[in-house]
Amino acid sequence: MVDILIENGFIITMDPDRRIIKRGSLAIEGDRITAVGEKVEGQGDVVIDAKGKVVLPGLINAHTHLSMTLLRGLADDMPLMEWLETKIWPIEKNLRKGDCYYAALLGCLEMIKSGTTCFADQYFFMEDVARAVEESGIRGVLSYGIIEMDDPQRRESELRTGEKFVREYHGKAGGRVLTMFGPHAAYTCSPECLLKTKELARKYGVGIHTHVAESRDEVDRMVKKYGKRPVEHLDAIGFLGPEVLAAHCVWLTGHEISIIRERGVKPVHNPVSNMKIACGIAPVPELLAAGIPVALGTDGAASNNSLDLLSEMKFAALLNKVGKLDPTVMPAPAVLEMATINGATALGLRDEIGSLEVGKKADVVLIDLKQPHFTPLHNVISHLVYNAVGSDVDTVIVDGKIIMQEREVLTLDEAKVLRDAQRTAEDLINRLGKDE
Ligand SMILES: [Zn+2]
Repeated sequence: MVDILIENGFIITMDPDRRIIKRGSLAIEGDRITAVGEKVEGQGDVVIDAKGKVVLPGLINAHTHLSMTLLRGLADDMPLMEWLETKIWPIEKNLRKGDCYYAALLGCLEMIKSGTTCFADQYFFMEDVARAVEESGIRGVLSYGIIEMDDPQRRESELRTGEKFVREYHGKAGGRVLTMFGPHAAYTCSPECLLKTKELARKYGVGIHTHVAESRDEVDRMVKKYGKRPVEHLDAIGFLGPEVLAAHCVWLTGHEISIIRERGVKPVHNPVSNMKIACGIAPVPELLAAGIPVALGTDGAASNNSLDLLSEMKFAALLNKVGKLDPTVMPAPAVLEMATINGATALGLRDEIGSLEVGKKADVVLIDLKQPHFTPLHNVISHLVYNAVGSDVDTVIVDGKIIMQEREVLTLDEAKVLRDAQRTAEDLINRLGKDE
């Protein structure tokens, strides 16, 4: 007897052989997958008939700022630095404890409803985010965003906050909450600060989540200040390593791509955010060709404005094709890898999630194929990358627990989450200007 038995599904394993089982079963016991195949022996406590549905590893959003859901649609159509300095940062200064709980719950709800089962987050009030992860049933790799601006006093307190969060929260919620250190970027953190996070990350055995070479303006600032481009600078100070999750990596030279490969850095591509803020096109085909496991992220809802990783896959493919004027780059199977197994690799969780294999965590998503835009069915991976959107997701299982069934989220009161988020966002905007 197994806990959950999924039968008759179109299973896309994303295992090392990229095995696809057109009509197969998957068994779950506790939090783990115990069998995957055409025929699985035994009976299930709960049986899910997946006829006409794709069974896919849960998607992994490798870079976001979940609580920025509160700022969704508030400041669009602006350049990155102006957007940060005149809109986002002043609003964020007004955030209070508790705001990010409602913001993160909204983000968790949106991600669950669009098939994401694990995400990497970097923001503030991370205790709030951890609480939302715990209650919603999703998996999160959370980091406190350290912004130091060359201020030694601020460095001390920021590092203390980041360390306290890792110490108290790593492994919480039955292991669904994991942590990293989150120095925001090389232009907001001094070399001293970055190296201290590296030392702390080693001490606690966790990763580091940062932003790298997002805009041309950032590259100019770095060259002016340090005489080096972002990746060169980070390498010169000894910061880079396989534990570094590097969001964006848009502005890279060939030399910097080889540094990324040699150091084992894990880049995260955020095509929609990069397009919306008009930062540029990351050289993803070159990174993939160099054997670097590029992951996929949405970035925050202020710069996307959605957290739908299924849609993000299509953008990733299209942006890079038009960028290269070459439709052969970023084929659909490679893009699906970015949203699943590469995401797991990037988060240091390759042995745990990212594919449907015996022994891995049971993070599983079912997508309903019985819809006009999936008909006819010639190539299921093509459909997932080029046609699927979040609302096609039918059922979501995380850590062996069904958290969404036939589009009903079982862990959260959906109407309440929306109400609370709306109220919190309004309060935040009403406070603007009053505290200063
Ligand atoms: Zn970001």
